[in-house]
Amino acid sequence: MKLMLLGPPGAGKGTQAKRLEDAYGIIQLSTGDMLRVEVASGSDLGKQAKEIMESGGLVSDDLIINMISSRIDHDDCKGGFILDGFPRTTPQAEALDTMFSDKGMKLDHVIEMKVDDDAMVERITGRYTCAGCGAGYHDSFQKPKEEGICDKCGGTDFKRRSDDNAETVRSRLEAYHEQTAPIITYYRDKGTLKSVDGMAAIDEVTTQIKDEIG
Ligand code: AMP
Repeated sequence: MKLMLLGPPGAGKGTQAKRLEDAYGIIQLSTGDMLRVEVASGSDLGKQAKEIMESGGLVSDDLIINMISSRIDHDDCKGGFILDGFPRTTPQAEALDTMFSDKGMKLDHVIEMKVDDDAMVERITGRYTCAGCGAGYHDSFQKPKEEGICDKCGGTDFKRRSDDNAETVRSRLEAYHEQTAPIITYYRDKGTLKSVDGMAAIDEVTTQIKDEIG
């Protein structure tokens, strides 16, 4: 199964993708995560992406399209995958169509997570992850059961994304509305779009997505 999650930063795409990985045995392909690995490694690609990511803008289409195209050729994608954070522009959506038809693949579901923009700043600025296992937490909405200790792995080291600050979040939301929101119409026109209420509780959103997938 090939699945795409659409929605603004903070909509919960990453959280839901992790749950769907477990439920369906498919893997999450987050272009944001891939870019952060490149930035951390200091690769040429990472150097090109770093400043743009820190300003909340979008990395160039060519770079992203090449990165995802080679990633989906890996063996671990054979059982299916969840696109999280890609595509983010109309040229990326069009390139994905070409890529899928060239590779003989089919996109099974496009799920839009509908959320209120106003809530996204608080969601994003409060979020953090366990540095050991990547489990996600939030200052207000999802604290570890025991303060400072990861529920999943017992780790005590946590990290926050450098672009999860209030100023950058506003630029990221702006980029979403200007450049990414039009692809909602792109998939609606194709008849492949399904929508879920991303403001619902995390479990409820997962249930809604599973119902849409059928
Ligand atoms: P994310 O983890 O999805 O919030 O992505 C973090 C940042 O990586 C974004 O703010 C962009 O700068 C960059 N990025 C991730 N995916 C894409 C994409 N498909 N196109 C352009 N830039 C991207």
